[in-house]
Parts: sequence; C-alpha cells; structure tokens
Amino acid sequence: MKKTKIITTIGPASKDEEILKGLILSGMNVARINLTHASHEFCKDIITKIRRLNETLHTNVAIMLDTKGPDVTVGKFESGSAYLNTGDKIRVYMNPILGDSTKFSVSYPRLIHDVKVNDTIKINDGLIELTVLDKGIDYLLCEVVTGGFVEDHKGINVIGVRLNMPFLSKEDEEDIAFANEMDVDFLALTHVSNAEDVLEINDILINLGNDHIAIIPKIENERAVDAIDEIIDISDGVMIARGDLGVELPFERVPGIQRTIISKCHRAGKVSIVATEMMASMENAARPTRAEVSDVASAVTDGVDAVMLSGETTIGKYPVQTVDIMSKIIETAEEDVNYYELLDKAMRTEKQDTTGSIAYSVVECASRLKANAIVTPTMSGYTARKISRFRPSCPILAISPDEKTVRNLTIYYGIYPETIKPIKSFDEMMERSKEVSKQITKAEVGDRIVITGGYPFKEVKHTNFMKIEDL
Ligand code: PEP
Repeated sequence: MKKTKIITTIGPASKDEEILKGLILSGMNVARINLTHASHEFCKDIITKIRRLNETLHTNVAIMLDTKGPDVTVGKFESGSAYLNTGDKIRVYMNPILGDSTKFSVSYPRLIHDVKVNDTIKINDGLIELTVLDKGIDYLLCEVVTGGFVEDHKGINVIGVRLNMPFLSKEDEEDIAFANEMDVDFLALTHVSNAEDVLEINDILINLGNDHIAIIPKIENERAVDAIDEIIDISDGVMIARGDLGVELPFERVPGIQRTIISKCHRAGKVSIVATEMMASMENAARPTRAEVSDVASAVTDGVDAVMLSGETTIGKYPVQTVDIMSKIIETAEEDVNYYELLDKAMRTEKQDTTGSIAYSVVECASRLKANAIVTPTMSGYTARKISRFRPSCPILAISPDEKTVRNLTIYYGIYPETIKPIKSFDEMMERSKEVSKQITKAEVGDRIVITGGYPFKEVKHTNFMKIEDL
C-alpha cells in the first residue's frame, strides 16, 4: 500500500465517471478542481460523481478546490491562439480586444500603472518572455524576447513586481462561499504572499460558520518563500506550486526550495504537496521520462505527504495510466525510505506531551515488531496526524464516526481513514480495529497490529493507551 498520497486535477480529459473510477482505483486520494479554468457547474458535476463513486467503491476520495487568486491572464485570440515571433514588437492592451500575433489584451487593466519600462513579462509558465519598451495610453509596447504559441487565458507573471491587486477579488469570495456550500475538504489558495492573506480566507470561512475546510496556500512567488515560516504556522499545509514558482524565481532554485519546505512542514506537522510537471510528458506519451520517475521518487524519499498531477490528468491523453504509474513509482520509492531517520528527526522537534510521546512509541514499536498496521480510533484526527508525522513504514488506519475527519485525513502521509459507527466500549474498539485492518490491509491470522487511542471516551481528551494485538 502506498503511503504518499496522489492529488489529481480533474479537467476535460478526466471528467467522465468511468475515468474518475479508473483514477480512484489507480490511487487518486484527492480530486482537485482549479477554479481558474472550471465553472461552478463543472465542479458540482465532478463532486457529485466523486461522492457517488465513494459510496459504490467504499473509498474516501476528498475534494480540493483551488482559487483563482490575483492571477493575471491574457485575453482571447482571434483563432484561440497566436504565435508570437522572437524579436517582434507587439502591443499589450489594457482593454479587451481579440488578439493575434501583433497584439493581445490582459485581464488586469491597471497593469500599465504597475510595470516600468525594461520590466519582464512572462506568459504560459514562462515559455514566452517579453520586455516592456514603452507605454502608450492604453497599451504597453513590448519586444518578444522568447517567442512561442500563446492560447486564450494563459497566465502572465510580471517578474519581481508586486501588482497592486487586492489578494481577494469578488469572484474569489463567491468561490469560497461555493466551496463552503459544496462542503469540500481542502481549499488551495493561489498567489498567497504572506500570513495575512491566509488569515483573510480563514476569517471568511469562520464567518460562513465553516470550521473544517483545510487551508493550503500555494507557494509560488518570492514573497511567499520569504514568509514561509509564518505561512506554515497558520495553515494546514502548503503546496509547492512549481509552475509559477519556477517562473517568478530562477527555476534552478526550485529543487532547493522544495526540499526546504518539505522539511519545514514535516517538522511543523503540516501537510506538504509537490505540484506541477511531475509526469508532464505523459500528457502525450504512455510512459514517463526517467527524469520524471526520479522527480516523483525524490519527493517521496524527502518525506512529502502528497504529489500532484495537473495537465497530465486535465488535458492529457493517459490520465488513468499516469496515476497508475505514479502509484507504482511511489510504492517502489517508499521501499528506500529511511524510516528510522524520519522518526528520529520528527522526535527531536516533538512537543513533550502525552499524545506525542505515545505516537512516537507506537511508531517505534510498530517498526520493531514489523506490525501490519497501526490502528487509531479518532474523533478529530489529532492522534492520526501525530502518528503520520513520525512516518511509520506501515499504514495508519484512522477510524472515525466523523466523515469530515475521515476526508481530511485522506491527504496525510500513510493515513488510510475509514468511517465507522460510534464505538461504545473498549472491547468493541479492539474488535473494530481488527476488522478494519483485515479489510483494508488484508491482514491475516498471525499478523500483528498496534492500536492506540484515548479511553474512557468521554473522560480523557488525549491519547493514553497503546495495545498490541495478534490477529
Ligand atoms: C503551479 O503554478 O504550479 C500551480 C499548481 O498552480 P496552477 O495550477 O493554478 O497554475
């Protein structure tokens, strides 16, 4: 069983129920929908399908919505795209026009006030580069430094410039209300710059009466990298959004930033996600490149919680095969993980409290005894998350009567959550734990499991026991 989770972005290539089923059976743990490209209608359709499949397949795939955020995009082109030739001079208009190879418009009319002559504008994940030569009344005159194809609504990055856009737009507020209405599990936040941006979203969710959507800021610009400690501190986890990050910063800095953020999240007990171009060649090919295989494997051995697919599953030709191959790479890479080193690293930064101490002992004991699984009955998921932080080599089966807790735990390293009816006694807890481990890990007679939790239920608020059971 793989322990590193897979987040799969859903788009035109993966929206059909049969494909979604294939993605789930191949290892998708979280379905992500990007609100920059998807309508509320599309989201509703996918969420309904995923929830139906969860019922029939007895799975717990969670839903992540990803906000538009303060993104600037190009407008529309006469024929959906245009080729910008290197060396050409082109006009970038502030008001909507139909673009071609000599001109196009942008979604943010104040861009003309925010940029200066000689600033660099990048389009389409940095593939196309322009330099600002001059400003007209309602356009920027630019030189195409690196040409290429640009399609409708591709993203724009203005390098090193803080645009005067508010972090939150009216549309984003509507999207957050929609996420609350649809009761999704995770909200990824685009182009966060600091902790205040995250707190602003948190306040909106609190005002909506929502206390369970987990907030995952995307780290994709230099300001967020500089504020990483305070962002991790107030978030449920972060996404290393390598697409924009590798445009806003020199791309050679991305691997180092990725490793640092994974390690900081691990130390803080927060979720880390590595995103973008993990298996990009599989948009068009049935096999990944060896470099992509290494990229996924490195993220796993560095101790990431989840890896993410975008173009591969939204517009790619092989969405199900991509998830299947990614699962195989993860499972194999996990055989090389030095679990004792991760356990030791986590323990050195663990608070000296009861739950943390028991969680450490549980993982140490499970490893020593080569246990088949760790089982933890939980209401809030706190103990399961603590155990996940110690990176056991066996799966963590978190059983809970709270469906929201179950879906939230889906993204964490090693946790296989399962909804159960409320448990009434200690003996019932032991029986359920054994049943669930047989069901999920296919444990057999003679296999050993380690069970941990808090008992008596209403009297203790923390984890206070560990029990070793032979099936
Ligand atoms: C990224 O930039 O890497 C990313 C994940 O964001 P988006 O998919 O919104 O471009």
